[in-house]
Amino acid sequence: MNILVYINAAGHLAKSALEAVTYASKIGGSISVVASGDVDDATLATLGEYGAQKVMVDRSASTDDAQQITRLVAKAADATGADLIVFSHDLIAKAVAPRLSVRLKAGLVSGAVAVPDQSNGFVCKVNVFSGKAYGFVSVKSAKKIISLLPNSFQPEKNGAACAVEAFDGAAGASAIKVIETKKPEGAIPLPEAELVVSAGRGLKGPENWGIVEDLAKALGAATACSRPVADIGWRPHHEHVGQTGVAIRPNLYIAAGISGAIQHLAGVNGSKVIVVINTDPEAPFFKAADYGVVGDVFDVLPKLTAAVQKFRAAH
Ligand SMILES: Cc1cc2nc3c(=O)[nH]c(=O)nc-3n(C[C@H](O)[C@H](O)[C@H](O)COP(=O)(O)OP(=O)(O)OC[C@H]3O[C@@H](n4cnc5c(N)ncnc54)[C@H](O)[C@@H]3O)c2cc1C
Repeated sequence: MNILVYINAAGHLAKSALEAVTYASKIGGSISVVASGDVDDATLATLGEYGAQKVMVDRSASTDDAQQITRLVAKAADATGADLIVFSHDLIAKAVAPRLSVRLKAGLVSGAVAVPDQSNGFVCKVNVFSGKAYGFVSVKSAKKIISLLPNSFQPEKNGAACAVEAFDGAAGASAIKVIETKKPEGAIPLPEAELVVSAGRGLKGPENWGIVEDLAKALGAATACSRPVADIGWRPHHEHVGQTGVAIRPNLYIAAGISGAIQHLAGVNGSKVIVVINTDPEAPFFKAADYGVVGDVFDVLPKLTAAVQKFRAAH
């Protein structure tokens, strides 16, 4: 099988890019990568360590214009004879993959969480109902597209650096004019964070976020928040997680003063370990928690921070 992986290489190689290449290598076949973005050749060559046989890069192609990227990936799919195209299921994939699906007459699976079962056709496992259940999608078209849910696969090295070649994706002029790009603040980008400390309206006001940031700093975690907290301007919108915000699947998600509404859980219930701190023992979040603390965030968070700092100092 010829597999083509699209990588959005704007500024750096995201963990999700390594996951997508690892995923392709688990499916098996000849694996090419097509990238847009400004990452240098030496860095792109490291994708070979995760299973890519070659990387084709078009540095003139956009990293945020879905129409341009669609044209780029379509041309690369043609050049490589791709039977399967793999994306990481991010905002770009959500815009590009359906366009490509129509253009190539390719069946599309959005948000896959496992390697397709090819023992009887081509069956992909996906998250459905906001992560409450799994669905199994059988793809019958000759060409196929899969977008892989971030954090479903750990990047795994299984090879050596590969060749990188310039590729003219004939992406054409962009119909979109980017006026301003605002990078999220904070040292650790939320979608890539392994550890996340998140807080909600239980924090009472933006002036109290110091105790959330202190714990995040002690752990080396990213910070997140519930939607109302972002809506009322206590925290920036890029921290809002949930159905209408960022979907994350970190190893540890600490939720402080968040009720655990279904729309919030939709973005975080793929986390490996969930710790909930809430004064209300009936808060719905406790049903999704691996560990729960019935307590006041203003009491519990500083104690947790002190315990983490003590542990770090001793190890
Ligand atoms: C279409 C739609 C989409 C939505 N999308 C999202 C989304 O993407 N993300 C999202 O988060 N929400 C989303 N929501 C909103 C969601 O339904 C909830 O209203 C929201 O998640 C509640 O936020 P919260 O838990 O911070 O606040 P609250 O519901 O007010 O809960 C605050 C919690 O803090 C606890 N608490 C209070 N004081 C303390 C204290 N001192 N110590 C410890 N605990 C304390 C309370 O017991 C309570 O459980 C959406 C809603 C709709 C209708």
